Amino acid sequence: MRNETIRSDITVVGGGLAGVCAAVAAARLGRKVALVQNRPVLGGNSSSEVRVWVCGATAHGTNRYARETGIMGEMFVENQYRNPDGNPYLWDMVVLETVLTEPNLSLYLNTDVHEVEADGEEEARQIRSVTGWMMGSERRIRFESPIFLDCTGDGLVGFLAGAKYRLGREARHEFGEAWAPEVADDITLGSTLLFYTKDAGHPVKFVPPSFAKDITQTPIPLKRVIRSGDSGCHYWWIEWGGELDTVHDNERIRDELSAVIYGIWDYIKNSGQFDADHMTLEWVGSIPGKREYRRFLGDYTLTQNDILAQEPFEDRVAFGGWSIDLHPPQGMYATESGSKHLHADGNYHIPFRSLYSANVSNLLFAGRNISATHVAFGTTRVMATCATIGEAAGTAAALCAELGIAPRELSRLHTPLLRQTLLRQDASVLGVANEDAADLARSAKLSASSFLSRLAAESADEAYPLERDVALLLPADPGLAGTIEWRLDAAQDTELTVEVWSTGRPENYVPAALESQTTVAVTKGDDQWVPVRLVWTPEEAQNAFVIIRSNPLVQLYLSHTPLTGLLAFERGTAAGVSKDLEDHDDSQPVVEWSMKRLVRKTFCFRADFATDAYRPEHILDGYKRPYGGPHLWLSEPMARDAQPWVELEWENEQVVREIQLIFNDDVNEDLINLHHHRTPFEIIPELVKNYRLETQDPAGNWITLITETGNRWRKRVHRLETAIPVKAIRLVVEETSGSRQAEVIEIRVYE
Ligand SMILES: Cc1cc2nc3c(=O)[nH]c(=O)nc-3n(C[C@H](O)[C@H](O)[C@H](O)COP(=O)(O)OP(=O)(O)OC[C@H]3O[C@@H](n4cnc5c(N)ncnc54)[C@H](O)[C@@H]3O)c2cc1C
Repeated sequence: MRNETIRSDITVVGGGLAGVCAAVAAARLGRKVALVQNRPVLGGNSSSEVRVWVCGATAHGTNRYARETGIMGEMFVENQYRNPDGNPYLWDMVVLETVLTEPNLSLYLNTDVHEVEADGEEEARQIRSVTGWMMGSERRIRFESPIFLDCTGDGLVGFLAGAKYRLGREARHEFGEAWAPEVADDITLGSTLLFYTKDAGHPVKFVPPSFAKDITQTPIPLKRVIRSGDSGCHYWWIEWGGELDTVHDNERIRDELSAVIYGIWDYIKNSGQFDADHMTLEWVGSIPGKREYRRFLGDYTLTQNDILAQEPFEDRVAFGGWSIDLHPPQGMYATESGSKHLHADGNYHIPFRSLYSANVSNLLFAGRNISATHVAFGTTRVMATCATIGEAAGTAAALCAELGIAPRELSRLHTPLLRQTLLRQDASVLGVANEDAADLARSAKLSASSFLSRLAAESADEAYPLERDVALLLPADPGLAGTIEWRLDAAQDTELTVEVWSTGRPENYVPAALESQTTVAVTKGDDQWVPVRLVWTPEEAQNAFVIIRSNPLVQLYLSHTPLTGLLAFERGTAAGVSKDLEDHDDSQPVVEWSMKRLVRKTFCFRADFATDAYRPEHILDGYKRPYGGPHLWLSEPMARDAQPWVELEWENEQVVREIQLIFNDDVNEDLINLHHHRTPFEIIPELVKNYRLETQDPAGNWITLITETGNRWRKRVHRLETAIPVKAIRLVVEETSGSRQAEVIEIRVYE
């Protein structure tokens, strides 16, 4: 046996997605990081040991423009390329590689931390070290650093350090939360084991073990959905332990879950109700996925009301968009729905003050243990959101280590620095623009070979009977002032009513206020373009939610050629999921107006007015994702502008060492790491594939600095061998991964 001491700038305990993103974020900022994980595999509940699929703000395609960027975004996009089938082991590999490629990061797998050295008064504790036992290696390792992150999910490190925390549900009156119980209690969400099945291609028998539960004696067959052929997270509802202590009763909970899994399989194989003769078990989980335990107290506690109000915190550093998703205490034995859901009208914000301890001065946390009420935790707990929280906390930890200050001081004095650092790393802080004084691009003059100024989608690829209200989201930049023609068939002479709605907030894509309404006469006839005059000139450019009211005599057309910045919606389509499993309030705007069946489709239309939404100036407008408009440059289609370019030009010569490019990876596309659904392409079509960066020689000739082929990423950083003097830089797009035009979100230039 060995005793060792590891000294780092930052120690991150827990290698779930929160811990991984925290550690990677800090390491990328040059800090020496130890990442300590008590199991042999990274990824926490998303790992192949547990196999929960990674959800985030997109909420399975309910929420618009909601996919995460930053480290989580990179892993989503890379997984989509390498692992379109959703193989859990390939996902493990993506996560592991993300960690292993960071030279400043040391990974300690199989190392269970269960000792914490901390001192100080109750209100001002400080962690000195944490100690873990590396299983199988007989190494007792003590980790020392000025800053610690508890990303263990259960919150053991903070607990041992004396950090204040809550467990269970707050009473309604404490934070005025409508979804909280009248009286506080110890109830949490329960834990789950999952299993995978496969078709063996020949008959396979199943003899249940004596400990299998007879599920016909429970409400499960009646109240939950059991289908032969389902695997993994389709069985998220095999949940139990919410009325127990999910940590101290973990073994008992696992045994119960295991008995139910074999009982369900016995029911599928032997009840005669399923076509399952050839089906067999491929994998059965043995580590319960835990949903909830301690939630630390930070300087701020995030609540249900903050989520629903989408509170725009001054110190917002991350965002979420999943519904508040709470489950009945009895879990799988409950007769009520397995989950009830409450959606905000769009993405919501997460403040930095919820990510560090109120009383342990050098402790940050990320993941399911942040400072949130039980109800707010119901949405922040999904893993891509935990990951963005992790990136924010890890970035904060790196700045604390660099500046030699505690998280609370960072919060009070340097929140703008924290947010600007996150943006430079390509994390998303919604509504916060680039103000990086070091970014030379911000003082450049911008020009481009062309830009798209026409809003139109003309190719009729699919007929769409107008049996329900539908809508099209359009950038109103500077406004909508003119005529939009709609391509349609009319079975008889009739009328068409079109309304323009504003969306309420830049981060929302739902109808909030009626701005104008027009009704026009339509004469009987097929495939006609019907003009509708729309006038809406808001003071600031923003999105318009254009509703076409239902008319069973009319058939619209859908184009299958997507155009960035446009989204199509239909009203009141069925959720597609049994209410026994998911109870959503169908009148909530993001549910009521669904885009799920219309992703990458657009109702055929053409506008006779020009838009500024795609002008090259948007490359320097500071925003890296849609926010009240698309915020990017779109060239004319490359059929007309074969090698579109955008140029940054300075009045005086600049010394340049690094050029950062952000391409469009369509954050509306709902990517998922495992097999919930398939996105049809491995590389996001809007991404620029081949490009070159050029500068001018003293004679004014363009010379190539960098040529890149086969790009499949959103963020590219080109660091030149030596800094060079330039007066202009040009990005020339040679080919995209499918988009008809060049699409560029941001260019940054550094010395
Ligand atoms: C069955 C189930 C279904 C769910 N459904 C979804 C879903 O569909 N999509 C979704 O995104 N989220 C879902 N969730 C929620 C989500 O999985 C969790 O909220 C999320 O995993 C929390 O992330 P985390 O990084 O905080 O914690 P975890 O994923 O729990 O990771 C914590 C890590 O820390 C390690 N650790 C713990 N203690 C120590 C220690 N003392 N020393 C060292 N390492 C330690 C653990 O081994 C673990 O790997 C579900 C959860 C469950 C259980």
